[in-house]
Amino acid sequence: MKQSRALIQTLREVPRDADVISQQLMMRAGMIQKLAAGIYNYLPLAYRSIKKFEGIVREELEKDGCQELLMPMVQPAELWQESKRWQFYGKELLRFKDRKDADFCLGPTHEEVITDIVRRSIKSYKQLPINLFQIQGKFRDEIRPRFGLMRGREFIMKDGYSFHADDACADREYWTMFNAYKRIFSRLGVKFRPVEADSGAIGGSFTHEFHVLAGSGEDAILSCDACEYTSNSEKTEAPCLPYPHTGEAELPLKPAHFATPGIVAMEDQARAFKDADHDGLPLDHASKFYLYRATRADETTFDVGLVLRSDHEPNPVKLKNLLGVSFLDLVPLPEAEALSGAKSGFIGPVELNVPIYVDRSLEGAFNLTCGANKTDFHHFGFRPDRDLKQFKGFHDLRLAVEGDLCPRCGKGRYQAFRGIEVGQVFKLGTKYSKEMACTYLDTEGKEAPMVMGCYGIGITRTVAAVIEQNYDADGILWPWPVAPYHVHLLSLDPANPEVSAVAERLERELEAAGIEVLHDDREGMSPGVKFKDADLLGFPLRLTVGAKGLKDGVVELRDRRTKEVVKVAPEGAKDAVLAARERILAELREAGGR
Ligand code: ATP
Ligand code: MG
Repeated sequence: MKQSRALIQTLREVPRDADVISQQLMMRAGMIQKLAAGIYNYLPLAYRSIKKFEGIVREELEKDGCQELLMPMVQPAELWQESKRWQFYGKELLRFKDRKDADFCLGPTHEEVITDIVRRSIKSYKQLPINLFQIQGKFRDEIRPRFGLMRGREFIMKDGYSFHADDACADREYWTMFNAYKRIFSRLGVKFRPVEADSGAIGGSFTHEFHVLAGSGEDAILSCDACEYTSNSEKTEAPCLPYPHTGEAELPLKPAHFATPGIVAMEDQARAFKDADHDGLPLDHASKFYLYRATRADETTFDVGLVLRSDHEPNPVKLKNLLGVSFLDLVPLPEAEALSGAKSGFIGPVELNVPIYVDRSLEGAFNLTCGANKTDFHHFGFRPDRDLKQFKGFHDLRLAVEGDLCPRCGKGRYQAFRGIEVGQVFKLGTKYSKEMACTYLDTEGKEAPMVMGCYGIGITRTVAAVIEQNYDADGILWPWPVAPYHVHLLSLDPANPEVSAVAERLERELEAAGIEVLHDDREGMSPGVKFKDADLLGFPLRLTVGAKGLKDGVVELRDRRTKEVVKVAPEGAKDAVLAARERILAELREAGGR
């Protein structure tokens, strides 16, 4: 491909609204353009990488007998009403009406449509199992689209769904897809981790996310340094810490015992208690309290409280799962203050007549402090299992953190990583097949709901995540398998007939050998500009043809990642490129095992 004919507009400046490196580099390299918030044009360079990644995904899934199909992006509301997600999906689901006033939405995911296809096509256990996938544009009206392709509103996803006659078969397919995902991300040579995750809005019983590790990742991952346990911190089990003050004399609740005017911060509270002559209560006597509003599947709501040790952070996802509700939000502060009768900082669990859940690291704790529901006062002597009106027990409800002892093996400590979620596999069970009557006749002729799994990969997000892990100060460092082109062939002086003849010949030779070449044949451009653009675009190899080199009988081959340069005769250039490809791919296979 001649660069003089290509739609590649590079930018020197970092675009002002680009906040992560992949977005900056993709915009600067002329790969993407923003059309509206979270909606991008994938320009030819980006689309080449996207199609290559799609190719890898297809190849690996087809090895496992998955079949590709294509469903519509526009979906009728009826199907979503059947699965009951029409009400519950939230505002990410973009709903609209057609000219006949019928309700539709843009597909954020396709469980409903695929379940409808399968219930219409499959009747007998003999036709099961089946695994179907598509690669298609999705729309989610994300509240905060950002980070370029990493969190768009329109994006490309591979979504796959499997249907089974029984649980054991669905479990086998889950691990088959898990392993296919490992192969897919290994082929990119990126550092990634499969992590145990929360099943979120899609529902279902069991799930892993695949994360590309990168500092810009939105998710916190905790990984035990001694065993295999790796999980999204939304879900990570927190160890139960013993109450450190069991040796103290237990006191009764002393209501509104401390005047703590204006003292909200825990450290200040501890100091105030000390001043109040209580032997300098350590911080872990202080409890803290959160008031949440839970929304059930039928949209009714109720308030619940959560009590934690003051140095722990709450994990609302755990509480939401424990309650089995659809949403959990903090009660807006003015309402919480009205309910408690106290200002923020003094709201506490004791007087409130709502169900109250307590983190298990407070099991057996006493002599705690808590807000007194009276502005400027705290209670002392609080014991959760004795003093609450609606005590709902001790549960794992806090956020685990780096350094926590792993409760799975009891030996290792958690290490923290940031990750970009690029894929997820779910065992869905019969959630959708029951709601939508997707049944089959079993060996005895009895009707039973199919057992389902679903498997997603963010295609465009993965391409961006690859860049988040592969760049330097000058630009992108594309891994060979998803590089838009393999070789950037630079004619330093295309007006010179000798240079252009050699460059043309190399372009043809390389392309004939299966190497994808972008030939920078642009005239009137300094070598410096061409080199800068080549670094920015970041194809694995750069091959430079210039009048000066040709005088010495050489062209220059440079590895973008290592910056190593070799000079070879033009006749040997093709073989040098092929040898470099072998070396790069061998390194990548090794890296893929990380
Ligand atoms: P997230 O938690 O990041 O919002 P999700 O868990 O809701 O994502 P899934 O329903 O699991 O997403 O979708 C499958 C895959 O699609 C994700 O693993 C991710 O790679 C990709 N994806 C999801 N939302 C977006 C988005 N807004 N922009 C780009 N890719 C996305
Ligand atoms: Mg997900």
